[in-house]
Amino acid sequence: MEKLSTDVLVIGGGATGTGVAWDAALRGLDVVLVERADLATGTSGRFHGLLHSGGRYAVKDPNAAVECAHENPVIRDVAADAVEDTGGFFVTTPFDDPAYADRFAEGCRETGVPCEEIEPAQALREEPRLNPAISRAFRVPDASIDVWKLVWALSRGAQQRGARVLPYHEAVAIHRDGDRVNGARVRNNRTADEIDIEAAITVSASGAWAGQIAAMAGIEGVHVMPGRGIMIAMNHRLVNTVINRCQMPTDGDIIVPIRTVSVIGTTDEGTDDPDDHTVLQSEVDAMLEDGERLVPGFKQARALRVWTGVRPLFEDRKENGGSTVTRDVTRAHALLDHHERDGVSGFLTITGGKLTTYRLMAKDTVDAVCRQLGREQSCTTATERLPGSDLGEEIHIGDRLAMREKHLLEDQLICECELISRGRLEQVIHRRGTTDLDDIRRQLRLGMGPCQGGFCIYRTAGILHTHDGIETEQANRALLDYVAERWKGVWPVLYGDQLRQARLDEWIFQGVLDVGHLQ
Ligand SMILES: Cc1cc2nc3c(=O)[nH]c(=O)nc-3n(C[C@H](O)[C@H](O)[C@H](O)COP(=O)(O)OP(=O)(O)OC[C@H]3O[C@@H](n4cnc5c(N)ncnc54)[C@H](O)[C@@H]3O)c2cc1C
Repeated sequence: MEKLSTDVLVIGGGATGTGVAWDAALRGLDVVLVERADLATGTSGRFHGLLHSGGRYAVKDPNAAVECAHENPVIRDVAADAVEDTGGFFVTTPFDDPAYADRFAEGCRETGVPCEEIEPAQALREEPRLNPAISRAFRVPDASIDVWKLVWALSRGAQQRGARVLPYHEAVAIHRDGDRVNGARVRNNRTADEIDIEAAITVSASGAWAGQIAAMAGIEGVHVMPGRGIMIAMNHRLVNTVINRCQMPTDGDIIVPIRTVSVIGTTDEGTDDPDDHTVLQSEVDAMLEDGERLVPGFKQARALRVWTGVRPLFEDRKENGGSTVTRDVTRAHALLDHHERDGVSGFLTITGGKLTTYRLMAKDTVDAVCRQLGREQSCTTATERLPGSDLGEEIHIGDRLAMREKHLLEDQLICECELISRGRLEQVIHRRGTTDLDDIRRQLRLGMGPCQGGFCIYRTAGILHTHDGIETEQANRALLDYVAERWKGVWPVLYGDQLRQARLDEWIFQGVLDVGHLQ
């Protein structure tokens, strides 16, 4: 069996894990990161896309609001290439308690969330689709964040400083020697090969799966309650600003414009299984009704796709004098030093929190790693820009079109919705060395627009097949897997124009290509 040895082994390749790898690598530590699937395929790749200003938590959870208000400008600077400065509004609709608006303004003042009250007429001038009956409006610095760009930049940055990042490697056993954890055995989920990794410190950054990883180390009571939420992507930008209802946080009260679409979310249902991706028709119907409250006519727009994510809600249960005590249930992040908590050294768990606060979570974790290793390097992630963000330029919605128009005749267009050229596609196929079209989708947003891959995916499968060493069967399998995966998100929102689009796609795939009989 192959063996590796490192200072820090990170388990989990979401925003937190890649953030830990980047921070630790910047401090000169040797790092190996393992993720059971592709990077950001856990909660990070299934979230709502909002870089919080803190406004959402200003009344309900002031500590979270303070953290978000602190991190928002930092992330805009160090990860500019992943952020679109959409700005945000909190608006009081006729469905909201009018008294909340003053509490909101006060909460923002107390927690340092930048917030300016504006005339409702001004908000309506900027966002003409908004409910015209809004009575109050506040401007906050919400933004939208492209998590795949963020996570891959963190991973690239860490790798440039020597970290080894291993997607599709799952931790299957944690090595424990008495009261010390000293690494893990991981399995390559593509080849079934196993690797033994010896590590001075093992960090579990496995979000909603943190309880499972702790249990592998023989530590009980790391109870992470997965909170399942659904989101629906609409086929274009119904709004260009993040729109929040000005009320206590509840279901379906935020619309986030992300690249070519806008996304409404979310719900919060307890589940026992972090891999639970159930979507109930009743949730979809309720979410579309919620959209109607913010943007009248919302339901007439075309819903493209629905997906779910699971929040890692941490509840610390620990045996105390024979009885189980629930100490805390929190939405803030939790760093568990298992030496202090359970008498097991060399092992840390970081869970909970929000994507907006991933950097802070990573900083707290690597500070603890350094303390355990007796190293004194301080954190530099608040000022060190990520690869791709060196110029501090944020995403602008027209960037891809402007770039495309410059090279209009030079490169074939493969995905019309997301303006992806053959050259860019081939670069990514080559760099990733994968036939998994879902991995390629996450890198490029391939097939994430209105046709949901209807036109670009068979072209991509053909291009894949022209690459050296990729057999017909592999290209066919890639096409079939992609279509099956996309279908999971499309069927719950099959109505109106999207139903027509789905029928057209079916004629292309079944009627013309006969994919049902591909081998
Ligand atoms: C519906 C919803 C909407 C949200 N919206 C927002 C938002 O708009 N803004 C915001 O700031 N936050 C939002 N959040 C919260 C945010 O998405 C999460 O807090 C954050 O993404 C968690 O990141 P993470 O890296 O800690 O966990 P994850 O991204 O879940 O990463 C953990 C990783 O560990 C991996 N793993 C598990 N077991 C193993 C193993 N045995 N071996 C190797 N790897 C393993 C998993 O595959 C996973 O990729 C939302 C959450 C939900 C559920």
